[in-house]
Amino acid sequence: MNVRTRAALVLCAAPALLSVAAPAREPLPLVTLERACALLDERLHSVTLDACLGAGLRTSADATVRSQPILWRDYYPRQPHGDPRRILLIGGIHGDEFSSVSILFQWMQRLDADGSQPFHWRVVPCVNPDGLLDRPATRTNARGVDLNRNFPTPDWAQTALPYWKRRTGSDPRRYPGPAPLSEPETRWLVRTLEQFRPQAVVSVHAPYGVLDYDGPHTPPRHLGYLYLHLLGAYPGSLGNYAGLYLNVPVITLELPQAGLMPSAEQSAQVWADLLHWLKKTHVPDTALPYGNPRPTGGLWQTMLPSLLPFPE
Ligand SMILES: [Zn+2]
Repeated sequence: MNVRTRAALVLCAAPALLSVAAPAREPLPLVTLERACALLDERLHSVTLDACLGAGLRTSADATVRSQPILWRDYYPRQPHGDPRRILLIGGIHGDEFSSVSILFQWMQRLDADGSQPFHWRVVPCVNPDGLLDRPATRTNARGVDLNRNFPTPDWAQTALPYWKRRTGSDPRRYPGPAPLSEPETRWLVRTLEQFRPQAVVSVHAPYGVLDYDGPHTPPRHLGYLYLHLLGAYPGSLGNYAGLYLNVPVITLELPQAGLMPSAEQSAQVWADLLHWLKKTHVPDTALPYGNPRPTGGLWQTMLPSLLPFPE
């Protein structure tokens, strides 16, 4: 090989070397909607493959720790409502709370059939698919992080890990992660909050059989058979982050059983009461001031001692 040939080879190789050195992109989802629905059908008695495929869900551009997509869908009011108020409805942030995912599929069918509801909904039926699809299913994500303790509440660094160690005895089911937003699922949900800017958030859990509430406005006394029982604000929880920091009402529904669905009447009544409360409460029409400065006063400190018998 002469010198000129060798130089040409080096020049040809240079772009390849540069592309290898480029920063790695976030992994793209490795599974399709068909595959995701097949897995959900396998795991959840109340969700069939056809119902999942027919639900019009989209796959997120981001992946979970195991490169699963996060499924979501928007529903718009059929009647003209100007700028409809936006409601974010999520389930399955804890992967072992099966009923919180299944009931969202029921309510998506209601939204499909409802010609008069006035809201723009974004529905995310399963925020933690890795935990749901694990065997056995886990509350945490695939890295062992409780996603509902991983939100960037302003005092996360001072409170989340000390609370976990002292109050939960380092319970592995409640590990808040090494840092706020350390997990791709939490980052995806916070980006959704920032982009969609919901005026209310509804998050479904199980199995404590109560209604919890964080944020402005007067909470409902009950939604169907779920009665108000304030659980308090945990460091890094969605209720703490969105309800107290972003000032968006967060309604947390705790279904009574994780592995058993409410009856059709119970499910329908909770949904009807939720719609009624959202309509009559008049959550603000204008975008809320996201990115609030940290609230002044002792709010964040005074929330901590009230911690509570029910780990949402
Ligand atoms: Zn939960």
